[in-house]
Amino acid sequence: MIKEKKSGQLIVISAPSGSGKGTIINGLLEKNKNLWLSVSTTSRKQRSNDIPGVTYNFVTKEEFEQMIKENHFLEYTNYAGNYYGTPRGTIKEKLDQGIDVILEIEIEGAANIKKLIPEAIFIFILPPSLKAMVKRLKKRGTDSKEKILERFHQAYKEINEVTKYNYVVVNDVLEEAIEKVSSIIKAEKCRVDRIEEVFVDTKEEEIHELLMEEDKEFDNENISEKLD
Ligand code: 5GP
Repeated sequence: MIKEKKSGQLIVISAPSGSGKGTIINGLLEKNKNLWLSVSTTSRKQRSNDIPGVTYNFVTKEEFEQMIKENHFLEYTNYAGNYYGTPRGTIKEKLDQGIDVILEIEIEGAANIKKLIPEAIFIFILPPSLKAMVKRLKKRGTDSKEKILERFHQAYKEINEVTKYNYVVVNDVLEEAIEKVSSIIKAEKCRVDRIEEVFVDTKEEEIHELLMEEDKEFDNENISEKLD
């Protein structure tokens, strides 16, 4: 009846640090095998919980600048003194294979993607409160008090950008938040603008034949009744 677009969807997820975005994305990846998380390149220092090539591809500032010149990035930004960028190559490949791609990027990068690919899905994840966010950051123990305060100020600014996104999910109960993002991705697959073609898949004669067949079955039933 309908022919849908075969290409995957681009899903952009932004969130202030400490909103549990990483845990939500891991939950999504476990649940949905058709999802792929793009690995960004960054010039920031590795943290103890980073895995090179998995959390990020780590390069020096000079290497990053060279990559900018070579048009390596779909978008890039300078965030808190470090470069972060989304490499072009693999994303198109994955989308063409029908795989959905997640970009976990900050708001400026998301705004740049919106200009390039307005049909992407933009999801903003919020912590239940700023206090809960700071508590999470403290518990994570990867940042100093000053850094946490800086992230708080950053989050405060970022939260005002939420209305530029298509969806907002509050990460209060983790499982529910994962379920909500999952449902958004599923619902987006049913959007009418993903339909390429609508067509009639059965000729009218075939419908007539089908109706006649039903008549035959009905007659047969009557005959077997008579034979009983
Ligand atoms: P973190 O240093 O905490 O890993 O990341 C800092 C911020 O950079 C986060 O908000 C994260 O979403 C964002 N980020 C990570 N990769 C990219 C990227 O490729 N492009 C942009 N614009 N932001 C990114």
